[in-house]
Amino acid sequence: MENICKYRVVDSIAIIEMCHPPVNALSLALRKSISEGFKAAQGDQAVNGVILASNCELFSGGADILEFGSGGDTKSPFLPQICNIIDDFPKLVVAAIQGSAFGGGFELALSCDYRFAAPKVLLGLPEVNLGIIPGAGGTQRLPRLLGAEKSVKMMVSGKPEKAEILFKDGVVDHIFDGEGDFLQAAVSYTKGLLAEKVTLRDYSKMKVDTSDLNADFFSGFRKEIARKTRGFFAPERVIRAVEAAVSLPFVEGLNRERDLFLECAATSQARGQLHVFFAERAATKIPDIDESVQVREIRSVCIIGAGTMGTGIAIAVLAAGYSVILLDLSQEALESGMNSIRKNFAREVEKGRMTDATVEKILSQLKGTVDYGDIVSVDLVIEAVFEKMEIKKAVFEQLDVVCKPGAILATNTSTLDVNEIAAVTNRAEDVIGMHFFSPANIMRLLEIIRAEQTGKDVIATSLKFAKSIRKVSVVAGVCHGFIGNRMVAAYCGEAERLLLEGASPAQVDKAIFDFGFAMGPFSMNDMAGNDVPHLSRQSYPQGSYDRDPSAFAVQDKLVSLGRLGQKTGRGFYLYEGRSKIVDPEIEIIAKELAERFGVTQRAISDEEIVQRCIFSLINEGALLLEEGIAYRSSDIDVVYCNGYGFPTYRGGPMHYADEIGLDKVVDALKGFQTTLGAYGAEFFKPAPLLLKLASAEQSLQDCHRMWGTNFKVYSKGINT
Ligand code: NAD
Repeated sequence: MENICKYRVVDSIAIIEMCHPPVNALSLALRKSISEGFKAAQGDQAVNGVILASNCELFSGGADILEFGSGGDTKSPFLPQICNIIDDFPKLVVAAIQGSAFGGGFELALSCDYRFAAPKVLLGLPEVNLGIIPGAGGTQRLPRLLGAEKSVKMMVSGKPEKAEILFKDGVVDHIFDGEGDFLQAAVSYTKGLLAEKVTLRDYSKMKVDTSDLNADFFSGFRKEIARKTRGFFAPERVIRAVEAAVSLPFVEGLNRERDLFLECAATSQARGQLHVFFAERAATKIPDIDESVQVREIRSVCIIGAGTMGTGIAIAVLAAGYSVILLDLSQEALESGMNSIRKNFAREVEKGRMTDATVEKILSQLKGTVDYGDIVSVDLVIEAVFEKMEIKKAVFEQLDVVCKPGAILATNTSTLDVNEIAAVTNRAEDVIGMHFFSPANIMRLLEIIRAEQTGKDVIATSLKFAKSIRKVSVVAGVCHGFIGNRMVAAYCGEAERLLLEGASPAQVDKAIFDFGFAMGPFSMNDMAGNDVPHLSRQSYPQGSYDRDPSAFAVQDKLVSLGRLGQKTGRGFYLYEGRSKIVDPEIEIIAKELAERFGVTQRAISDEEIVQRCIFSLINEGALLLEEGIAYRSSDIDVVYCNGYGFPTYRGGPMHYADEIGLDKVVDALKGFQTTLGAYGAEFFKPAPLLLKLASAEQSLQDCHRMWGTNFKVYSKGINT
């Protein structure tokens, strides 16, 4: 057997040191090796106690999720068995936690009698983010140490906690004081416990302390999290598992946990959430860029434009420790941008998330200017000025003159042609798109736009920079709207068409909300401002929406009436303060426009609304793959789940298409092609890629496996 744990005995203490880089994922090999270690320690009369430690950066990142689905995770000894071996071990067992422990890694540590940890390491049970619950006793052991309330909150949020906090809560028993070697200190601590003849922790004899637990705690908690966890299957199962910890004997609780775990693991949600997890990691791997590509050093960043996006980007960049120059041509806009940055950090202090000293340090790194002469030495420029090609070009001409050689010049354009912007400079290889989402300091997504001449090192540097400011990034090629906005235009176009055919904004929004989106298309447009897509359509290439004379007729009409959305108190809805009110006038406007364009109105089912909007999204995604704008279908899923409120538990639009079957998607598209007249014939043409994959009974994911991840590769592969 491959022995990947180091085993040695020091002063009658056996040290089982997990050595399975990079993160001690609890694969079958590691589980076997841990089990061998415990067997050896049990059989050795000279051993009085055991320390379970790690020589990787993490104590353990948890289960090896590559084993999920292949059945590897259920091969003996599987993780719950290992945890039970440790829990029932007749000698003292101490977890020496020098690096963070997540999921199964933390469950392993919880099974030990005592936990000795470095103060800042993170301990957590994030399984809920993968659509499952802890399945190796975590839901039963943690509440016995931490209490039901804190445990259920920790597991439902999936958020880890620092060891020093969990020490105060009684989960960690001793904090390393930083003096000398960690493992030696763990040995001394264990020797001390042995000398004191401490009792071994026996979870089966422990009860969850419910003295402070309100009788209606669980029902209240369910209500509290209802909005946040809407549609997700796993959070409710976490609650049921903790209820079992409170009400059942330990072993029965473990059985209940297993049933709930298996119930979750079998859902399409677990498949969807796992898919998104892997998709986010795959998205940063670019086929022609490997580790030999040298990244450029980024220390200082200039942001041009102190408007909504510029200030949000500045906050994210400052918070990551970079020095920032904010530049705007208008002194007034600059002042207002600088103030909103300061206010944002002041709020962080008020909420206790940052100290005064930290904020002072961050703000000392911020400088405002109206003078391009001040940015000559910055390493990266992110332009966020008005969305007008002439203005962007003027800015890049200026940047080409003032910026030092090697500076990366990025544009935050949402739709415009990055090749055209790059062409006004004498350094097109340094020009790239960095498409942030609003609010830029909150939204996780960053679409990185690779123009024709963008240097590989510029892409690699941008990916590294994105990670450093805690963004999830996806690389896309140049087209109008890139991945996200091009697809959203297809989806919103379909929602608009449904208004003409007789649906109301509230009906469409509700159907999409019930599907699981954070909000429906009309609420989204009212929030972003109806003038934004209206303006962006002016630069759409010919042959897109102009194929339908009625496309976006309602929105265009609203813009002409000054009904821009929330900011004007009126858009697809009326707004009174924070409340949104249905406006009957929209139906009148839609009816008039329908008559003008010869569209017959009728009652439309919610199912039809969802299919038409979501399948339009999928179809456009397939076209993007064929055109080589996206490297892989999973990249599109990352964009949609992180930037557009697509429900993560459905895995993104492309995974969702695979899940329901491409044949069904194609059949529905063909159906709309015939039932929706000339409009349907034009706008529901199935993407050739979907037709080919469906007839070959393959999935979008298969397509990625078969033809790799090169631009244009999908269509090439399919054609051969
Ligand atoms: P905004 O109108 O809030 O801010 C633009 C700022 O740029 C203004 O302060 C203006 O004074 C300044 N400016 C204009 N010309 C300038 C120049 N030549 N030099 C320096 N400063 C100049 O706009 P915004 O909403 O922040 O959008 C900025 C960019 O970000 C646009 O390209 C937009 O498409 C893109 N974007 C916006 C969003 C969004 O939701 N608002 C999302 C993603 C991307």
